[in-house]
Amino acid sequence: MIDFELKPETKQLQQMTAAVANGVFRPVSRYYDDHEHEKVKELYALVESMTPPVRKETEGEGKKRSGRGLAQGPEPNVALVVSMEELAWGDTGILLCWPQRGLGNSAIEAVGTPEQKARFAGKFAAMAITEPGAGSDTAAITSTARLDPETNEWIINGEKIFVTSGYHCDAVVVWATLDKSKGRAAIKSFVVEKGVPGMTVTKVEKKLGIRASDTAAIVFEDCRIPYDNILGSPEIQNRGEAGLGGVMKTFDATRPGVAAMAIGVARAALEFTKTKLESEGHTFPYGRSPLHLNAIQKSILEMEAELEVARLLNLRAASMLDTGIRNSLEASMAKAKAGRAATLVTQKCVEILGPIGYSREHLVEKWLRDCKITDIFEGTGQIQMLIIARSILGFSRDMLK
Ligand SMILES: Cc1cc2nc3c(=O)[nH]c(=O)nc-3n(C[C@H](O)[C@H](O)[C@H](O)COP(=O)(O)OP(=O)(O)OC[C@H]3O[C@@H](n4cnc5c(N)ncnc54)[C@H](O)[C@@H]3O)c2cc1C
Repeated sequence: MIDFELKPETKQLQQMTAAVANGVFRPVSRYYDDHEHEKVKELYALVESMTPPVRKETEGEGKKRSGRGLAQGPEPNVALVVSMEELAWGDTGILLCWPQRGLGNSAIEAVGTPEQKARFAGKFAAMAITEPGAGSDTAAITSTARLDPETNEWIINGEKIFVTSGYHCDAVVVWATLDKSKGRAAIKSFVVEKGVPGMTVTKVEKKLGIRASDTAAIVFEDCRIPYDNILGSPEIQNRGEAGLGGVMKTFDATRPGVAAMAIGVARAALEFTKTKLESEGHTFPYGRSPLHLNAIQKSILEMEAELEVARLLNLRAASMLDTGIRNSLEASMAKAKAGRAATLVTQKCVEILGPIGYSREHLVEKWLRDCKITDIFEGTGQIQMLIIARSILGFSRDMLK
């Protein structure tokens, strides 16, 4: 039998994060939208002070997690998506500032050795893949990593753009190629700690949404890092996906998180809309034939169903991670569905509410802006559809581009 009941520990975390979202994130949501990149240090301190306690680990190194309390308990990935949905309901941009929950932390968690996990524990790590000439096509990256045999250091060169938390993080996981002529297999990821000579933040973006979170461009010029900062093996294997394999494993873990953000922010918009309509006397009866619903009732109930579908897909993707089953297909399905549903839901809510939806007096217009990113980063909706189609049809990358 399929059981979708959350474990008691997960429910507890859900309640705790819901309280943080409601009591801490939501009240300052507009402030950090209006003051993009200002007072971000205070914001980080605020978020850190709200971090739920991490469960004490007694089961050995292999069981340690760097989730700062968001991924814990008997089903850590389910707990993570459940708590991320709650926090995104409060504010998605502030959620992205959660210390030690950066995309780079997920990469270290997914492919780092126990020694690396211990060494980088406590660091807030961003992830830098995208370049001016390489976005969706990650295999096109041109940043390089070259080993200096005399000093046994990697030398990183290249330019990365749109790095979430790239300005305020402590370290960046950088994708670079060891040999451009060897294609995907030569792409590896490297942890570069902030303050290393040769690493410069050149720009902080001004954005449509998630304005509490910084998004930076970073240039690497002969940036030297220790040999042991490579994540995974330095070997270039001949099988095409080998090099990227570790990084793809990261996406399997992070895409459900992005889907959870989408569901959380869309739920915020839908709840607000429903409450406003109810205050004006509208009712939303369940179990009635669509023939007996008016247009607004039908829209609201359809949107609730869309979000529930996305949530269930996402819980499946997360629970597969918890049970050690490869979830690349399910993670892409969850992200594609959630990103698209959230974009449609927030847009429809603005439409239904009219001026109230468009006015900055309320947060609905902000939720519309905030949610769009969930259909862009960690692979756009279109790219997720390609991944899903390839997987279901059994096509290779070359057969379906
Ligand atoms: C706020 C923000 C934060 C970000 N954070 C990070 C981060 O932390 N780290 C990082 O590395 N990157 C980050 N990114 C970059 C993001 O991952 C890329 O923008 C995204 O992968 C798309 O790449 P691109 O912008 O180059 O678009 P392109 O790849 O040029 O795509 C443009 C459009 O074409 C579509 N498209 C592309 N190829 C295909 C295809 N084969 N079939 C059908 N449609 C296709 C895409 O879906 C998209 O709609 C961030 C971006 C933003 C806006």
